[in-house]
Amino acid sequence: MTEAKKRVFAFGKDANGNNVTEGNTEMKYVLGGKGANLAEMANIGLPVPPGFTISCQTCMEYANGNNTWPEGALDTIEEYRRDLEMRMGKKIGDAKDPLLVSVRSGAPMSMPGMMDTVLNLGLNDESIKGLIEQTQNPRFAWDSYRRFIQMFSNVVMGLDGDLFENAITSLKLQRGVTSDTDLTAEDLQLLVAQFKDIFSSQARAEDYPELVSGGRVVFPQDPSIQLRLAIEAVFGSWSNPRASLYRKQNKIADDLGTAVNVQSMVFGNKGTTSATGVAFTRNPANGEKEFYGDYLINAQGEDVVAGIRNTSPISELKDNPGLEEAGAELEEIFVVLENHFRDMCDIEFTIEQGTLWMLQTRVGKRTAAAALRIAIEMEKEGLISKEEALLRVNPEQLDQLLHPQFDKNARYDVLARGLNASPGAAVGKAVFSAKDAVDYSERGDKCVLVRWETNPDDLAGMIAAEGILTSHGGKTSHAAVIARGMGAPCVCGVEALKIDAERKQASVAGSDIVIKEGDMISIDGTTGSVVLGAVDLVLPELTGDLDTILEWADEVRTLGVRANADNPEDAQLSRDFGASGIGLCRTEHMFLGERKQIIQSFILTADPAVREKALNDLLEVQTGDFLGMFEAMDGNPVVVRLLDPPLHEFLESPRILDVEIAHMEESGAPAADIKEKRHLMDQIDAMSEANPMLGLRGCRLAIVYPELAAMQVRAIATATALLQKKGLYPHPEIMIPLVSMVSELELLRAECEEVIAEVAAEQGVALEIPIGTMIELPRAALTADQIASQADFFSFGTNDLTQTTFGFSRDDVEAKFVPRYLERRIMGRNPFETIDEGVASLVAMGCEKGRAANKAITVGVCGEHGGDPDSIHTFNRIGLDYVSCSPYRVPLARLAAAQAALLQK
Ligand code: PEP
Ligand code: MG
Repeated sequence: MTEAKKRVFAFGKDANGNNVTEGNTEMKYVLGGKGANLAEMANIGLPVPPGFTISCQTCMEYANGNNTWPEGALDTIEEYRRDLEMRMGKKIGDAKDPLLVSVRSGAPMSMPGMMDTVLNLGLNDESIKGLIEQTQNPRFAWDSYRRFIQMFSNVVMGLDGDLFENAITSLKLQRGVTSDTDLTAEDLQLLVAQFKDIFSSQARAEDYPELVSGGRVVFPQDPSIQLRLAIEAVFGSWSNPRASLYRKQNKIADDLGTAVNVQSMVFGNKGTTSATGVAFTRNPANGEKEFYGDYLINAQGEDVVAGIRNTSPISELKDNPGLEEAGAELEEIFVVLENHFRDMCDIEFTIEQGTLWMLQTRVGKRTAAAALRIAIEMEKEGLISKEEALLRVNPEQLDQLLHPQFDKNARYDVLARGLNASPGAAVGKAVFSAKDAVDYSERGDKCVLVRWETNPDDLAGMIAAEGILTSHGGKTSHAAVIARGMGAPCVCGVEALKIDAERKQASVAGSDIVIKEGDMISIDGTTGSVVLGAVDLVLPELTGDLDTILEWADEVRTLGVRANADNPEDAQLSRDFGASGIGLCRTEHMFLGERKQIIQSFILTADPAVREKALNDLLEVQTGDFLGMFEAMDGNPVVVRLLDPPLHEFLESPRILDVEIAHMEESGAPAADIKEKRHLMDQIDAMSEANPMLGLRGCRLAIVYPELAAMQVRAIATATALLQKKGLYPHPEIMIPLVSMVSELELLRAECEEVIAEVAAEQGVALEIPIGTMIELPRAALTADQIASQADFFSFGTNDLTQTTFGFSRDDVEAKFVPRYLERRIMGRNPFETIDEGVASLVAMGCEKGRAANKAITVGVCGEHGGDPDSIHTFNRIGLDYVSCSPYRVPLARLAAAQAALLQK
């Protein structure tokens, strides 16, 4: 309309039934997901209540202007409001036939329940008369007005919602009734008056001077003011703490803003031919092709999601007298939407006196199992290509499939059953508030959050808990939707649970069992079972749909996927998960328990005999370790890294020793024992370093203690020779860590080769064991061409490379200041999680220089970033040969590598 910058967009029909929609589904970053799809539905002829959308950019302009409106924006909104009134043939606030609108948030990415909504806007002391006249239903009209005042006060003005709830409760007490629906029109009219009084007594005049009349704040009667304040509140809700937390959790950018949709109200609470519901075009829990969802007759939208009343399955909708046509039309629309969006959609709808209205659709959230099944079936149906199917599954979600389940052999009694809302099983102590869940988890105590129903304020607790259990709400309730999104196990709607959150306990109907805070419980979100006590959990097998998608992924990916594993069990698991080798075997992990003592005795003695004994002992156990590893990975490469960690990791902590000595002295232990301990402490003190991470570690250890490295190489070579003689195909590769100069590698390579040659001669076999290095220091990346002359392979150790490029201590900064940096937007991502662009440049440079100097070199990455989908895209772009990650992330890495290949084609 008049503005140069278009901020407002109409959707729906005009008074003559012509479509006047100005947007479409491509415009999510302008109109938000909801606005863009309302426009799209209107464009394809679906019944959408008319309205208009204020852009996300306007929200950001408003926020960046310190909550002031950009020039002209309010005039444009006013114009669109008048246009909407013309299209509807009704005016907001009209005393005869008022138009009511909803004001809803809608960000580019779905953020369910995180931001604000105001319904029934436009009601005032005049328009209530019109609503009564039009509906001939004073009870409905007064109920709408009281809901509006309550919502407006709470959402827009931030007044305490309990004050209004208390007023309802005390009126119900006075009337001797238990349900809201038992209150009469007169009761509700009285509540409206009381609510207005609460509003006047609670709202601060200095914050809202325009609402002051006769010396007190009064509930706004002017619909323009109502509308402006509601839009401002929705804009403001973009920055509320729970929305910010949700964005952080879901990696959604903070500068997107939310759109605001102002839409004509339709009512699902106008009697038995009215209804409201939410639905999915396929089952979002398991992917089955069926109409899935819930509805409520004679109810308003939020009632379904809030789980306040128990809903009925959507497949029964058209069996209700008066809803036959609307129900059938809805099923047709399911098909139209799927064919149009070529994906599973979720839907919100309302039926007002037999007429169906679509309030929202979007690509539906789904569990990992459903994502796989839907992608595969849609490919089979010819709706999408194989490539699209691969891109439809979020690699992070695959984690869900690897979630534990109840052990089939475990014996337990099911205490109660609810809805299987989000798959996976969880065991933990029962807690009854989000805060307690956070406290428990901070103490390292696993817990299950037990709530009547969750709401957006519970988010932090839901993240902290192992699983979520509710006594109310359906599969589309808040708890279910959020848990599925997070991949957390959830059982909801367990009606047998009577939860008393205040007393932190829940009784179980039909039994005398009371679950108290701290009691161990187990839930299975795949079956909906709740068990008292801890059930043994097991990991599911990878079969069926996951295998199919991963096979498709393997066909398109060019990046190899190996695993980081240090023992035969993990090696086998990696293999089962599809790893094509071990990219990092951290041998220090083989020196725990008793073996720590052996290496201690080596480090702390100068006596050659003791040292030799220690080395022989270590040689024996290490040879056994490698036999197991190489056998489990037979035919596949296993990169074995020589000892890397700072030596102090093998020694006792001086602080603990100090305490021990004090205890010994106090209890009068023999002087000789005390002396020995003191001697040990002196030795440990003598080895202490100010910066152990930058000290005697990595290849420096092999240079200072050549016998240690020689022992490890001997163990690797011997295990290889023994297996070769058994007819197996072991492929070890020896990796030398923390090299910064080619001279270090040159020296150590020669020493390793010498030992390998000795073993080959002793065993009478030919041994070909590649020798390579980690590139994990900036100097190594900068001189990678020199280093490549001595290396058969490179593996980027991006953990240390991140540490040394930033100068961030990897052991400290994530707890100390990274959260603060993220919060203050000094950094967009945690660089220890997702590869930083600066560190990635070093990887790219190292790779390029290395390959230029040594054409045959293999280049991989084995830092934690090897299992992070976004980093995998970066590594694919750089052109590495493989990533290596923890066994459980192998399936995810295979899929992410395929997606990277497809997107970077
Ligand atoms: C690395 O530094 O990235 C690496 C894989 O080694 P570690 O984490 O063992 O130091
Ligand atoms: Mg390292």
